[in-house]
Amino acid sequence: MPDIAKDQLALDGARQFAGREHGLFIDGEWREPRSGSSFETFNPGDGSRIGRAAAGGEADVDLAVRAARAALDGPWATMKPSERARLLWRLADAIEAHADEFALLETLNNGKPLRDARMFDVPHAVEVLRYNAGWPTKLNGESVNLSGPGTWHAYTVREPVGVVAAIVPWNAPLAMAVAKTAPALAAGCTIILKPAEQTPLTALRLAHLMAEVGFPKGVFNLVTGLGEAAGAALVAHPGVDKVTFTGSTEVGRLIVKGATVNMKRVTLELGGKTPVIVMPDADINRAIEGAARSIFTNAGQICNAGSRLFAHESVFDALVEGVADFAGKLRVGPGLDPDTQMGPVVSAEQKARVLSYIEAGLRDGAKISGQGSAASGPGYFVPPTVLTGTNPQMSVVREEIFGPVLCAMSFSDRDLDAIAAQANDTDYGLGAIVWTQNLSAAHKLARKIKAGTVRVNGGGLDPALPFGGFKQSGWGRENGREGVEAYTEVKSIAIAL
Ligand code: NAP
Ligand code: MG
Repeated sequence: MPDIAKDQLALDGARQFAGREHGLFIDGEWREPRSGSSFETFNPGDGSRIGRAAAGGEADVDLAVRAARAALDGPWATMKPSERARLLWRLADAIEAHADEFALLETLNNGKPLRDARMFDVPHAVEVLRYNAGWPTKLNGESVNLSGPGTWHAYTVREPVGVVAAIVPWNAPLAMAVAKTAPALAAGCTIILKPAEQTPLTALRLAHLMAEVGFPKGVFNLVTGLGEAAGAALVAHPGVDKVTFTGSTEVGRLIVKGATVNMKRVTLELGGKTPVIVMPDADINRAIEGAARSIFTNAGQICNAGSRLFAHESVFDALVEGVADFAGKLRVGPGLDPDTQMGPVVSAEQKARVLSYIEAGLRDGAKISGQGSAASGPGYFVPPTVLTGTNPQMSVVREEIFGPVLCAMSFSDRDLDAIAAQANDTDYGLGAIVWTQNLSAAHKLARKIKAGTVRVNGGGLDPALPFGGFKQSGWGRENGREGVEAYTEVKSIAIAL
């Protein structure tokens, strides 16, 4: 039985935190932005204003970069790897100790169902920290036998890339902030985080914990603000050595252009149009549930959401019917309502964007084969929707909608090359999900698909498994060894003996 009084107290606490006067966290201190201005933040579940965050700009970014540089060259550089590991582990423990508060803040600010925030966002952030806490003590170079003349002792070392700017989106604000911060700090970098303007709250809470668990000042800095101001200033700043970004392809392009000023290292995670391929031999019930969860979780606002369903014609009708039924039964509502299974999208703007895609699909000849109901009320609700009669020329199939909209298509060919070609007919290449019981087909398809991650008979994300995009889904990888090595430079040293 949930303890309602305790829950109410926790919610009051989260609301109180949201409503505080928030500054920028720079060099271990909370400061007012130079501009003195702030922006409002809302609860997508009912559209109400829940707080304000400081609007950081160029001057604040400059201060943060200087602080990050001083920490990089100072205490952080001389700290033993095991000490860095200990701080990351302590941060994980601290988030875990405040798990409920983080989940409530995430739901208040992003709109997602509280149970999702509790079961995914917060535990995932904790796991990512613990996984990366294992790396500081293991980031070694190697000794190298040279091919040329002479007798040499040659070896490589991995050094931190330097000052990192992390620019993150609103779909999983805490998880995204930690996905950048944990490996950057593990590698010995210092960081300036800019959360999305829609969702600053969990990043603000995180900054408080950074100070509490004992990170030296300047190692982690938080500059809330707008993309065109705080974000662009970070990208333009010559004191930033690397930008790590998750968000739209459009802003990704701007970041690449801006980064050339001092040839910053750039990691980009730019979304996708993940195909879900259902082979005739698949376990249909599991495939139905998997396909539905893949597109309706987080109201479809996941870069790796399974937004294009390709099912063999022998199972297509059963699949569409099953996913449509799932959509029809989904309880759509405010994230704080314990009955809610799918929350609102993040903003009125995102709602308009998703609805306009559905309209465009219908204009292009698609039809709705299943649709749940959007909750009534002032929140930014969108109905979970299954479209059929779609084809690869339509914008609903080509572009990332970032909403609960599935385009279902069938195939008749059993030729794996033809199936892979359909799945690969996209500018994106982030992920793919294959449902089959045929081991050989699974492995063969996995190799033919042009995407950074292929999952068979299930979805998900793991801190240990590299994640990132082929093609226009981005540059580089997060998670795993590759994820942490992306925050290092390799230096080669050779000594003539
Ligand atoms: P976005 O603009 O790309 O936002 C991502 C981050 O980039 C935010 O922190 C944003 O700040 C910042 N930003 C914006 N303009 C910038 C600039 N000129 N320089 C530096 N940073 C900048 O994404 P969005 O507009 O919120 O969403 C639009 C679409 O992008 C979505 O519908 C979806 O298709 C896609 N998207 C993909 C992902 C993903 O996980 N791959 C995540 C979010 C969105 P502000 O918050 O102030 O704009
Ligand atoms: Mg934006």
